[in-house]
Amino acid sequence: MSPKPRPKKSAAAKPGAVPAKNASAVGFKPVIVSSVALEELQDFDSEPSRALQPVAEEVRVCGKCKLCESRTQTVFGTGDPRSPLMVIGEAPGGDEDVKGKPFVGRAGKLLTDIIEKGMKYKREHVYIANVLKCRPPGNRNPEPEEIEACRSYLERQIEIIQPKVILAVGLFPAQWMTGKKIAIGKLRGQVHEVNGRKVICTYHPAYVLRNYTVETRKKVHEDVLLAVELLGPGPLVS
Ligand code: SF4
Repeated sequence: MSPKPRPKKSAAAKPGAVPAKNASAVGFKPVIVSSVALEELQDFDSEPSRALQPVAEEVRVCGKCKLCESRTQTVFGTGDPRSPLMVIGEAPGGDEDVKGKPFVGRAGKLLTDIIEKGMKYKREHVYIANVLKCRPPGNRNPEPEEIEACRSYLERQIEIIQPKVILAVGLFPAQWMTGKKIAIGKLRGQVHEVNGRKVICTYHPAYVLRNYTVETRKKVHEDVLLAVELLGPGPLVS
C-alpha cells in the first residue's frame, strides 16, 4: 500500500510562497514565504543593509534543520544595520513567527522599554536578531543541532553589522556569544570580550515577566547600564 499523503501544510498554501525546490533542502521540506526582513533591508540604503540582503535571502529559503517545516516564516532580524548596539535573543515565539519580526509580543514590549527607557535608544536604531531564525514548536528550547545549523547566519550578521556592544538576552544567546556553558546568573553583571567585541549578558524579557521582582529588574537594569557605559552617548530618545 502506498504511504498516506502528508497533511497539506505546503509552502504553496501560504501567501507569497514559492516552490520548495528552490530551497537549500537537506531532507526537510521548508516553508518558504516572502521575508519581512528582506523588505525592510531594501528600505535601508547603507552598505551593511546591502550586505545583509543575500544572507536574509538564504535564511528565507533555509532548510538546514527541521524547524523549517513547522515555521510560518523565518525571522531574520530587524532594525538599523548601522547600529552600534545589537540585541540577540533566543528564537522566534508565536507572535514573531506570525509577524516575521523578533520581539513583537509582551516580551518585545518590555525589550522596547529596556532599550528606550533604560538605554535611551530608539528601538528602530538598534539591530535585533535571534540565535535561531525559525520558531521551535511550542516555544521549546532550541536543540544543539538546530543552534549549530543556524550558527553561520548570526555570525555573518554580527560580522556585517560590526556592533560596538552586543546585549545577549537569555541563557542560549549568552552561552552562544560567550561559548561558556554556565548559568545566565553567572554570565550577567560583567563585560565579556569575544573576538574583540564587548558582550553583556542579561535575563530574557520573557523571564523578567515571569519573575517580575524588584531583584530581577534591578539586575537587568545594572546590566543595561553596563552596556550604556560602553556605548557612550547615543541617539537619545527625544
Ligand atoms: S532555524 Fe536556522 S538552520 Fe533551521 S531552518 Fe531555520 S534558518 Fe535554517
